Amino acid sequence: MKKINLVIFGATGSIGKSVLSIVRNNREKLNIQGITCNKNYSKLIKIGKEFNVKRIGINKNIKKNIKELNNFDVYQDIKTFDDLIDHKTDVIIFAISGLSGLDLILKLIKLGKKIGIANKECIISLGFNLMKLSKKYSTEIIPLDSEHNSIFHLLNNKFGSFKSITITASGGPFYELSKKSFKNISVEQALSHPVWKMGKKISIDSATMANKALEIIEAKYLFNLSDDQINALIHPQAIIHAMINYKNGITTALMNVPNMQTPISSLFFKFDSFDKLTKELNLLDYSVLEFKPIDDEKFPAMRLGREVMKMGGLAPNAFNYLNEILVQRFINGSINFTDIIYLNEINLEKIFAKNNNIMKPGLSEIKNINTWIDNNIYIGQ
Ligand code: NDP
Ligand code: MG
Repeated sequence: MKKINLVIFGATGSIGKSVLSIVRNNREKLNIQGITCNKNYSKLIKIGKEFNVKRIGINKNIKKNIKELNNFDVYQDIKTFDDLIDHKTDVIIFAISGLSGLDLILKLIKLGKKIGIANKECIISLGFNLMKLSKKYSTEIIPLDSEHNSIFHLLNNKFGSFKSITITASGGPFYELSKKSFKNISVEQALSHPVWKMGKKISIDSATMANKALEIIEAKYLFNLSDDQINALIHPQAIIHAMINYKNGITTALMNVPNMQTPISSLFFKFDSFDKLTKELNLLDYSVLEFKPIDDEKFPAMRLGREVMKMGGLAPNAFNYLNEILVQRFINGSINFTDIIYLNEINLEKIFAKNNNIMKPGLSEIKNINTWIDNNIYIGQ
């Protein structure tokens, strides 16, 4: 049987790790052609050796002469990463974090391949351009974010006329904490997610609920939904990832033990051939399944996310871009936890007081507004 050839962008990260463990269990079916990282080349070399990968991409310039790199074809700088793909590549995994991958994903969309895309920041910033371009170039986009992957598969089994979707949030580490204590949340506390082990940026986003705010916008662009068709609620057990609500009152849900390997596996295999991977769901392990509304007072990211989604045009991208900068500032210790969303809102007001919102922005307009933000961002006293 011909092996599926894959290239993993962001192989050294948390999603990368899940992909690698799937490959480890399915070596007779999967072959890795290329892997990339930002700067963690020693981890990349280790992965390269284990999986016998020839092509490796490293974004940051490495000044030292590293002997072990001679065993690989090295692609230096993210600008060259699309060269890791060739005519034999079947599946691309896009698991670079944040907007640094924006130019790269734009090149990859034009290759007519199958792309499993974990990176929600690029989906949001590109807005409707992503699916429009993928259609134009016959590229297949499979969302890997667990909620959106669930929706993607649930939509293949329709039970009537579609009404709306509901995505769930585990609630992150703080949904039960009183609002008074939010200001003093440390980086370390915010990074410790109760359910998922993820990269830093998305872990902080889960703590502020910006992750869920980004995900409702992600759903809008991936599935072409109207704003009032997207619901989100807290489900602390995190075994239902998403639901489809039909006009006839039926709701379908996709349940599995929280594990990124399940959505990722759906990229490579039919559902009945990935039995090796995950722990089976036993509902008797759960004495209750809870569902609660998201408190907008405690988590203003949710309100702000809905507002920018309603505004449309450049607003979701601006919210997303500001969030990425402000999360980094929180991690660096220059602002406190509640400032992440507070400053985002102040900056959004400033941006749209000084710039027109362009309703169907092209790529250059998205980049221009981000440059404007770089030059004008207010980050407090
Ligand atoms: P990590 O921080 O764990 O990994 C990020 C990966 O991207 C690493 O390989 C990193 O390399 C690489 N990278 C970062 N910056 C650059 C850059 N400038 N140029 C090239 N490569 C870069 O993140 P996650 O794996 O947690 O998340 C990846 C994406 O998937 C995010 O967009 C996130 O929102 C999304 N996602 C993640 C989920 C999860 O469970 N983790 C769930 C749903 C979505 P290096 O190691 O050298 O820094
Ligand atoms: Mg998610």
